[in-house]
Amino acid sequence: MAIEWEILGQPGADNALHAIVDSGQSRDSFLFDCGEGCLRSLRSAEIQSIRHLCFSHFHMDHVAGFDGFFRLNYNRPDVPVEVWGPSDTLAVMHHRFHGWTWNLHHDQPGEWIVTEITERELKKSRFRTRDAFAEERLQNRPYLSPLLLQEKAWHLEARLLPHGSIFSTAYRIVESPRHNIDPSALRDSALLPGPWLKSLLDAAISDDAAISVGEQTLRVGDLRSQLLTTTPGTSLAWVTDFRVEPGTADWKGLVDWLRGTTYLVMECQYRASDDLLAFRNAHMTTQLVGQIAAEAGVCQLTLQHLSRRYMPSEWLIMRDEVRAIFPHTELPKQWQIKV
Ligand SMILES: [Zn+2]
Ligand SMILES: [Zn+2]
Repeated sequence: MAIEWEILGQPGADNALHAIVDSGQSRDSFLFDCGEGCLRSLRSAEIQSIRHLCFSHFHMDHVAGFDGFFRLNYNRPDVPVEVWGPSDTLAVMHHRFHGWTWNLHHDQPGEWIVTEITERELKKSRFRTRDAFAEERLQNRPYLSPLLLQEKAWHLEARLLPHGSIFSTAYRIVESPRHNIDPSALRDSALLPGPWLKSLLDAAISDDAAISVGEQTLRVGDLRSQLLTTTPGTSLAWVTDFRVEPGTADWKGLVDWLRGTTYLVMECQYRASDDLLAFRNAHMTTQLVGQIAAEAGVCQLTLQHLSRRYMPSEWLIMRDEVRAIFPHTELPKQWQIKV
């Protein structure tokens, strides 16, 4: 199991995040935001295998590359494309889908499931290519942040963050915990190894089930707690275009949610000395970003969404301003900025 990921787009330009969760049995592909030119480094086949398109919000720099994504996926034959985003998602996607003339579509496959994340509800609609993207409203679902979608090998979480007068959605993919048989615990148990060990690793078998081990009948849950080791899965968070102040409930909530994240990818729009500007534009600074990563105890912080007001010579200075607070900070390696 692993999460592979890369930042798309250049420094001072639109950025996005492409991620693949490979469980060994399945490969699930995600795109977080879709700014202008962000898809240029991906092959068509990679763009066509993206299952989940997760928008933080719909400011132009996060959606301007959508036409290219749509062109390659509007009539995808296999599985639906799932689109996620905050308020406005259904309206914006509806308008996007209707930005073309449809008259040669009747035999075309293609299905899009669009979910608008609000504070208490998930609002869903389906759009089919063969129906010229007429909107079919699906039933709303209650939403209790952060869990958005649970799959066997991973789950997707979301958190709404303030970005001026609108919400920006932060996302986190979390791999399911890994379980392994502990050989020394098995030796100490004096139980004879056999096919029954596989039952302990099979999530479909409940803790209350009973299995035969030699002459004995034992409870699966008891054997699991005695013989299994559990390793938490890797996690990857995309947090962009927001402003929270230290000491507030929003700050504390964000830090608590991000606690222990493996890879945190966060906006870093402004230098600490430009905090007034950052505040006015509802963005973060090097100082604040470093502070969040440090308080949340993440493993690694990667910066993106640097303002184009800064010269290339300042990009490393920005990284170092963050590093002074949180040492495990990097710029995306794809940017190839020399240390
Ligand atoms: Zn932005
Ligand atoms: Zn924005």
